[in-house]
Amino acid sequence: MSVLQRLRHAPSYYEATVTRAPPRPALSGLQRTQVGVVGGGIAGVSTALELAERGFKVTLLEAQRVGSVASGRNGGQVLAGLACEISTIEAQLGLDAARRIWALTTDAVQLVRQRLQRYAIEADAQDGTLFVSCTPKGALALQADWRDLAERYGCTSLQWLERDALRPRIGSERYHGGWRDPDGLHLHPLKYVLGLAAAAERLGVTIHEGSRVLRIDPAQGGQGPVLHTDGGQLQCDQVVLAGGAPLGETIAPFNRLTMPYDSWIIATEPLPIELADAVIPGREAVADDSYDIDYYRLTPDRRMLFGSGANYLARNEDAARAFLQRRMMAVFPQLAGVRVEHLWGGVMEVPLNRAPVMGPWRGDAGTRVWQAQGFGGHGVAFTGMAGRIVAEHLAGEHERFELLAGIRHRAFPFGRGLQVPMMMAGIYWYRLREHWATR
Ligand SMILES: Cc1cc2nc3c(=O)[nH]c(=O)nc-3n(C[C@H](O)[C@H](O)[C@H](O)COP(=O)(O)OP(=O)(O)OC[C@H]3O[C@@H](n4cnc5c(N)ncnc54)[C@H](O)[C@@H]3O)c2cc1C
Repeated sequence: MSVLQRLRHAPSYYEATVTRAPPRPALSGLQRTQVGVVGGGIAGVSTALELAERGFKVTLLEAQRVGSVASGRNGGQVLAGLACEISTIEAQLGLDAARRIWALTTDAVQLVRQRLQRYAIEADAQDGTLFVSCTPKGALALQADWRDLAERYGCTSLQWLERDALRPRIGSERYHGGWRDPDGLHLHPLKYVLGLAAAAERLGVTIHEGSRVLRIDPAQGGQGPVLHTDGGQLQCDQVVLAGGAPLGETIAPFNRLTMPYDSWIIATEPLPIELADAVIPGREAVADDSYDIDYYRLTPDRRMLFGSGANYLARNEDAARAFLQRRMMAVFPQLAGVRVEHLWGGVMEVPLNRAPVMGPWRGDAGTRVWQAQGFGGHGVAFTGMAGRIVAEHLAGEHERFELLAGIRHRAFPFGRGLQVPMMMAGIYWYRLREHWATR
């Protein structure tokens, strides 16, 4: 089943709580621009916004609607770090480069706060995130990571909480320790990305929706690359590819470098205040270290938004709802009987090493096509920073782009057809291991 077919889920809580303007017109005929951006998620919109701030003429092509894939359907947790461990980066690039990349990820969180303020985006932001462990052994490992981040990465803002200190913050017996990030936040991601898109348009960016790029003609001679959609062509000086998981459906070689990864979320009816205060009194967003990664938070109107990781086994909505309700009950048995009002899924794009894929398209030297892809389940903050860094690169400041482009990637050893069955086998295996470990 294609990524796009998997997206035909019920509308999200987020879509139900925004009023969208009518669709922007699709690209038609032959148009010209300085920079063509492919993809209207946070990565693409941020790139367009940052380029416009630097005086570029920018046209963004979005296959569906802005924020309709991962960026407008996610858990809303604005987190430091990347989807991979920072040790993955350190092993490849050394401590100094890994420290600089870690610092970019904490700056990325601050960048979200600055953008909310600068562009007056009302996105239901609330402060604080918690990352917690489901096992005593996991808590020890997490504490070692926390200490390492403080001692070797200079990250002193994270607070370590032992099991007893965690209990007043999360009304659950499930966790054995974790850290709290007071700088982290959570928000309504669709309001955020729509707000960024509106800011970009105010700065002169042209956005075409319903404009799937089907082909890229690379630059030739003095002529820049051309993007082709069903209805038009966009002649560009440069192109930035920021198409997330669906890009591999149309543009090679993303179907080998990354794989699509499903996650589903439910939103309950609003909880009575006493129940909300009993489950997350400080209103932080929470993620845990279980294999499926449960992630959840309360909205300002006290709905529990509860998501859980890869679930290729739950292709239909009933199965997904049952899966998520089971997982939510395992954390908060006190929510038994609370009605689920929304259920939706989303697809993110995950590279083999779970680190972002930035650099020249197909690795070609001299290309005028750049990519900012592969942010996995950790992209709400870092996609924004990636957009800024791509814009810097196009404006002639290459240092931070080259730092990220230095991360090495390998293609998945099997084609897209085999990715999902192989992934399912892996999921079964890791779930079984987790089951044994927590018995
Ligand atoms: C259910 C779920 C929960 C998540 N929770 C969190 C979380 O709590 N915190 C966190 O940090 N991260 C989370 N993530 C991950 C995060 O949402 C992503 O990393 C991030 O949004 C990726 O942004 P993007 O702009 O790269 O891609 P996307 O948001 O997928 O945007 C890419 C856009 O490109 C368009 N496109 C693709 N191909 C083409 C084409 N050929 N032509 C034109 N347009 C094209 C698509 O239609 C899409 O709109 C979650 C993801 C999911 C799915």
